[in-house]
Amino acid sequence: MQIRLDDIVKDKKTIGIGGHIRPDGDCVGSVLSVYNYIKTYYPEISVDAYLETIPNKFKFLMNSADLKEPVESDKVYDLFICLDCSDIKRLGPSGKMFENAKKRLCIDHHLSNESFADINYIIPDESSTCELVFNSMDEDKITTDIATSLYLGIIHDTGVFRYDCTHFSTMVAAGKLMGKGINFPKLIDETFYQKTFNQNKVTGCALEKAKLYADGRIIASYITMEEMAKYDVLPRHLDGIVSELRDTKDAEVAIFLYELEKGSFKVSSRATADINLAEVASRHGGGGHAKAAGFEVFGEPEAAIQGIVDEITPLLI
Ligand code: AMP
Ligand code: MN
Ligand code: MN
Repeated sequence: MQIRLDDIVKDKKTIGIGGHIRPDGDCVGSVLSVYNYIKTYYPEISVDAYLETIPNKFKFLMNSADLKEPVESDKVYDLFICLDCSDIKRLGPSGKMFENAKKRLCIDHHLSNESFADINYIIPDESSTCELVFNSMDEDKITTDIATSLYLGIIHDTGVFRYDCTHFSTMVAAGKLMGKGINFPKLIDETFYQKTFNQNKVTGCALEKAKLYADGRIIASYITMEEMAKYDVLPRHLDGIVSELRDTKDAEVAIFLYELEKGSFKVSSRATADINLAEVASRHGGGGHAKAAGFEVFGEPEAAIQGIVDEITPLLI
């Protein structure tokens, strides 16, 4: 299946774009690339992009200052484009504008996506929403700035081309984007690998507290609100920790919890084993991919981790 973004947007007068809550690199990259494509080639269209506050490291992207805080609004767009979201809940307050839009397009790569729009371009096996957005654009019309946002999403969701969602097609797309003259070493260093001093410290704290379960096949840790305050970091600064845990030798599943509000924790899970974490996440009202999924839990973190471990252990072959 393939869509052409030009065919879908060309006759519209108003377009809204939204991505998921707590936006990551793929979400920010896909939203801004679609926004900038429409702005550049369809100046007559009134287009708004809605995203929660993005991490500072992504603010260099073209027109990131145009992003609007998602609001529950009665506005009716001719088209609403939902990017990198497996379900409507993940759009946050923008969900209402999506539902009310005359036409709804969803571009996504989550296994748990149930095709909830009018036009669904969902390929669960794909590296990133940005790769799908790349496929849907006219390659000749991809500017250096648009290429930068697309490349950003691909490197973030593939862990810089190391996860098994990286396909031949991903490398071809990345090569073509490099051909657009992007500054890829800077992009990779400054948005993927670099951490602030405080982020390094809080990562150290999470690694220090980590425990092994299931004979070392599962590793888990957590960070509380008190610890976030101590290191002066916000939830959005903790996104690299679960992949640090994932790198532990012999651990096949990594679980990381951080406290969103008192007694409620966001769970990030990653697998190197052949296991479907999206299914586990779905049972808890979350979702994701087979090897990277998220959901929320309530209660004491140690007990919550034990519960998740008990659920995952029998799934390990
Ligand atoms: P995270 O652990 O937050 O980095 O998320 C891993 C993957 O699962 C990402 O592709 C997320 O978009 C997805 N994901 C995380 N949390 C949820 C959730 N509550 N519902 C649906 N998908 C989620
Ligand atoms: Mn995402
Ligand atoms: Mn994604």
